[in-house]
Amino acid sequence: MSHVDHLKCICCSQSYQPNKVGFTCPACGPDEGILDVVYDMAAVGRVLALSDLVDASPTHWRYGPLLPLATRHAGIDWPIGWTPLTDSPALALALGIKRLRVKDEGRNLSGSFKDRASSVGVVRALDSGAKAIACASTGNAATSLAACSALAGMPAYIFVSERVPDGKLAQLLIHGACVFKVMGTYDDAYRLCMEACDKFGWYNRCCAYNPYLVEGKKTGGLELAEQCFANPPDWVAVSVGDGCTVAGIQKGLREMRELEIIDWSTRILGVQAAGVDPIARAMQTGKLEQTSGDTFADSINVPVPRNWRKAIQAVKESEGTFVTVTDDQIAEAMRQSARLAGVFTEPAGATSVAGIAQAVAEGIIDPKASVAAFLTGNGLKDISAARKAAGDPIEIQPDLGEVERHAMA
Ligand SMILES: *Cc1c(COP(=O)(O)O)cnc(C)c1O
Repeated sequence: MSHVDHLKCICCSQSYQPNKVGFTCPACGPDEGILDVVYDMAAVGRVLALSDLVDASPTHWRYGPLLPLATRHAGIDWPIGWTPLTDSPALALALGIKRLRVKDEGRNLSGSFKDRASSVGVVRALDSGAKAIACASTGNAATSLAACSALAGMPAYIFVSERVPDGKLAQLLIHGACVFKVMGTYDDAYRLCMEACDKFGWYNRCCAYNPYLVEGKKTGGLELAEQCFANPPDWVAVSVGDGCTVAGIQKGLREMRELEIIDWSTRILGVQAAGVDPIARAMQTGKLEQTSGDTFADSINVPVPRNWRKAIQAVKESEGTFVTVTDDQIAEAMRQSARLAGVFTEPAGATSVAGIAQAVAEGIIDPKASVAAFLTGNGLKDISAARKAAGDPIEIQPDLGEVERHAMA
């Protein structure tokens, strides 16, 4: 059995036994009553010590005892997680900080951080006896679900909004998912997916709603703790859309402290796009207000985030803060990440890097600081955004003189 002890409402703190409650707190309702999975840490500690990790699988399944999965899944080896954390002195220099390590989440199964959550979701769906799994997504949650469902041999129904980038749509379709392109906003797609799950009994992968999925996102924090073991960063930069990625990373770091595998904490810099920054605003005002702007970072273009409370709690608990960055800053960070750190990342992936520059400019991050950044998704997913950031090739006649003229210019 898993080491899950109980579920706790993040709004009213009420505890529930896992088999006695659905996905949300009945007292607070589906909008506010997000549940958090709490483990029997003493039991986890008996099977998960640093020595157990030495020979563990080079995937996020190495943290099995901290995942809400039955032990019969211990053999699962889908290639997810344990992404490299690489020093980038050149990018550190450009950002004006002492040390930068980048965690390239584009190396995951379907090329984004979301694979961490989807893989756990699909295994839970298998456990629950569901015949199919569904989700509404701006893109990466869906592409990762399609890839993981393919590995599990389970049908996937995906609701995407009109704005889904072509690369992500191609990923969904090639993995064999049934794709509904909903002619409306992400919110319309989300509601329709919820209704369909209710009506047809599909397993719901919508992260905001399903407490077990965030548990997969937690492995980003667990890995960061292990990879930085003796050299903790002062800050960790994370882009924020709905908010459960940042909450998951903080939870992973906290659990590694509870297990006494690490003895340090690090401050979290949550980064939102200036056009769509409801969580950064709510951090100041304490309440969520809809924003009317826009951003080309589609993966964090979430005007009505459902995990804003969790995100704010996580960032506060870490003694961190939020900054916002413009699309121009994000495009600059895409170029810098690719040219100085060798990582081609999608706009939402580069948002963390843009946030570091912004935080240095605002005096939030000290130039002497060591920072780690999650680059959450692969750049090939959104070619049109990359082309906007990258510019055009030099068009020439097949003539060496032209090459010389342009190359020397
Ligand atoms: C989903 C996503 C994020 C943000 O995660 P949230 O949980 O929505 O805050 C950041 N980057 C990429 C590439 C994503 O797909």
